[in-house]
Amino acid sequence: MDLLKRKVEADGVVIDEKILKVDGFLNHQIDAKLMHDVGLTFYNQFKDEGVTKVLTIEASGIAPAIMAAMHFDVPCLFAKKAKPSTLTKEAYYADIHSFTKNTTSTVMVSDEFLDKNDRVLIIDDFLANGDASLGLNEIVKQANAETIGVGIVVEKSFQPGRARLEKAGLKVSSLCKVASLSGNKVTFVEEQS
Ligand code: 5GP
Repeated sequence: MDLLKRKVEADGVVIDEKILKVDGFLNHQIDAKLMHDVGLTFYNQFKDEGVTKVLTIEASGIAPAIMAAMHFDVPCLFAKKAKPSTLTKEAYYADIHSFTKNTTSTVMVSDEFLDKNDRVLIIDDFLANGDASLGLNEIVKQANAETIGVGIVVEKSFQPGRARLEKAGLKVSSLCKVASLSGNKVTFVEEQS
């Protein structure tokens, strides 16, 4: 997605060789028009898969996920990082290691919102080691639902996330692939035409 690449080039800040900061348009301030186009691109990629639900994890996955859900005209469901006191029903749980915070937390989705009839598109802002998406896929499995694919806004292709997701049988689609963050600059993967 050219527009996204240009935005990463213009506004992305390389924190170190592994972390890219995109607070200007995705993780703090959100470029709503760009997110609209991100959602539309995911819709075009997965529109024939009978998606019934878009699933992400709070907080930074919600912007791209809700825009995708709008185009699919299905609910956007997000895994919560803390069990709310309002939760009265059973829930599905997964332990997810956070790449950026280096902590592991248990995330939950109420069983009111996911069941065996669901065909789920998982969306996240970044793909690094794949723990977030694999954890969400575990939640989908607990519900006996099916993950039809994983949509990622920015994939860091020098990390093992894609390989781990594909090994788990998941179809991965990313809108922007970063080959390296070395030398304080973003280098993209050259796409074959
Ligand atoms: P993974 O679970 O694939 O290792 O990491 C993905 C999660 O970690 C995403 O939900 C994202 O919030 C966060 N993350 C991973 N790498 C980066 C990064 O380079 N920049 C930012 N802003 N978040 C990242």
